[in-house]
Amino acid sequence: MMLIPTHHFRDIERKPEYLQPEKCIPPPHSRPAGTMWFIRDGCGIACAIVTWFLVLYAEFVVLFVMLIPSRDYVYSVINGLVFNLLAFLALASHCRAMLTDPGAVPKGNATKEFIESLQLKPGQAVYKCPKCCSIKPDRAHHCSVCKRCIRKMDHHCPWVNNCVGENNQKYFVLFTMYIALISLHALIMVGFHFLHCFEEDWTKCSSFSPPTTVILLILLCFEGLLFLIFTSVMFGTQVHSICTDETGIERLQRKNQRRQRRGSWKSVKETFGGAFSLNWFNPFSGPSHPKPLSDRDWVRQVSSVSDTENTETTTEEPSEERKDLDSAEVVDE
Ligand SMILES: [Zn+2]
Ligand SMILES: [Zn+2]
Repeated sequence: MMLIPTHHFRDIERKPEYLQPEKCIPPPHSRPAGTMWFIRDGCGIACAIVTWFLVLYAEFVVLFVMLIPSRDYVYSVINGLVFNLLAFLALASHCRAMLTDPGAVPKGNATKEFIESLQLKPGQAVYKCPKCCSIKPDRAHHCSVCKRCIRKMDHHCPWVNNCVGENNQKYFVLFTMYIALISLHALIMVGFHFLHCFEEDWTKCSSFSPPTTVILLILLCFEGLLFLIFTSVMFGTQVHSICTDETGIERLQRKNQRRQRRGSWKSVKETFGGAFSLNWFNPFSGPSHPKPLSDRDWVRQVSSVSDTENTETTTEEPSEERKDLDSAEVVDE
């Protein structure tokens, strides 16, 4: 049953320039295959550098203020190994999250030839992104920082200077998890250090002067507490998103109520790369990659033209603005 109020057509046609696929020419500087993914965003690059600096600061205090001066070698070696392993995994996850293509839709593929080649049937529509001239598959959203449409975009995270999407969500989750773990580990070690040093002579506790030691430890405490709270909340939200198969943007929109959700375990396995194994925690092993997009993925079924008005919002923009920007090409019966 196709209920098509005429004013919906007017809405779609209000911006006729977006409906002219010939205006969408592939960009001259498309990324050659095999090039590393890296977003050139000043704020994101600064945040990523700050993240590395904070992890290295924690590494410095843990090693040179607490563990190396300690005379309990077993305690130092075990804690040193655990902390360094977790810090290494956190930074590796950070690199992977930052340098992995989150699932960008090919830029400028909304050409007349391509849309014609899809041979739209009645009730089918393609959604075009007017900003990057690409056809949006289901659940893709445009990111104004990456200037691309990203499949299953969750949000753009300046701390990893990248979007969190289909292909790098695993690395992002691991990053938040390892940062939460090193923060907790550092806090426990600071606690032990204070307890231990109150009983002993401060000068034997650290190779730095007592005031410097206290300042360095308090700063580490503050950093650890802040990051523990922030990354645990982020980790929880991400795991919830994966289990419910609902991205951050979709949760804000609640637009996917009609979408059939997959079983949560299947969604978790796809994100982390197959059946449960240690590889789930390995930032060097990728998620199980979904099949490359086929022609069918570009086309969406619409039950009425009002569906084509579904606003595809990003977190940065109010939906009203996007209503005008998004365009859909619908084949009517
Ligand atoms: Zn786009
Ligand atoms: Zn982005």
